[in-house]
Amino acid sequence: MPELAPYGRAAARLRIERGAPGVTDSSIGGPLLWPAGELWPHCPVPEADEHDGSPAMVPLAQIHARDVPGPWWPDGMDVLQLLWCPFEHWDPPIGQADLCPTVELRWRRADAHAGAPVADPPEPSASAEPEYLPEPCVFTVEHLVDFPYREELPAELRLALDQLILDTGPGGKDVITRVTGWKLGGWPTWHLNHPHTPACESCGRPMTLLLTIAGDETPGIQVGRWGELRIFTCPGDHTHPFAADLH
Ligand SMILES: [Zn+2]
Ligand SMILES: [Zn+2]
Repeated sequence: MPELAPYGRAAARLRIERGAPGVTDSSIGGPLLWPAGELWPHCPVPEADEHDGSPAMVPLAQIHARDVPGPWWPDGMDVLQLLWCPFEHWDPPIGQADLCPTVELRWRRADAHAGAPVADPPEPSASAEPEYLPEPCVFTVEHLVDFPYREELPAELRLALDQLILDTGPGGKDVITRVTGWKLGGWPTWHLNHPHTPACESCGRPMTLLLTIAGDETPGIQVGRWGELRIFTCPGDHTHPFAADLH
């Protein structure tokens, strides 16, 4: 279906397995290259059970550009770090997803911290929700071209796409516009609601999908009801605020 070609976007799917990642490795639930002098992030939403009111965030992912090269890297940055607050948030701050952990994202340059002391993360809160405490994992990467969900395409392409999905997926499963699992880049799926591309809070540009975090048995995490937590970022400036949604 050559008409689809202009809509292809690079994506990288992460194939996760249990492991013992080090601080300089890419990982899920592994140690972060976190400068000892930099404040460890705490959730902006107070938890009643916490003695200091705001839980320490826990490492969710560290991704090196050398392991997952692609168009999602801002100029000069080569490490992406994600942390989250291991509680469900019913009234989250702007930009965060409902009924999910709140997320913190950092872009870094690995060489800026080479050889410098690394911070010991605080222990996760004893009352943290276990499905938000990932086990240490490593991953390998599968690069692919990802395509938009049918409603983001011109109407005249949708029927042909529906047929292509039926013809190519095992048992009619959509492996063209609904790539499952953890993914960098690519397109978000909208099989549960209508497409709504978030606009950058700072400059108004339509945001692009940076990362899809899927519930996964290997690190032992779950988001929503077997859902996906998606992180959207501003394509014009990586320092503009991200937006997260749960799908
Ligand atoms: Zn929180
Ligand atoms: Zn922006």
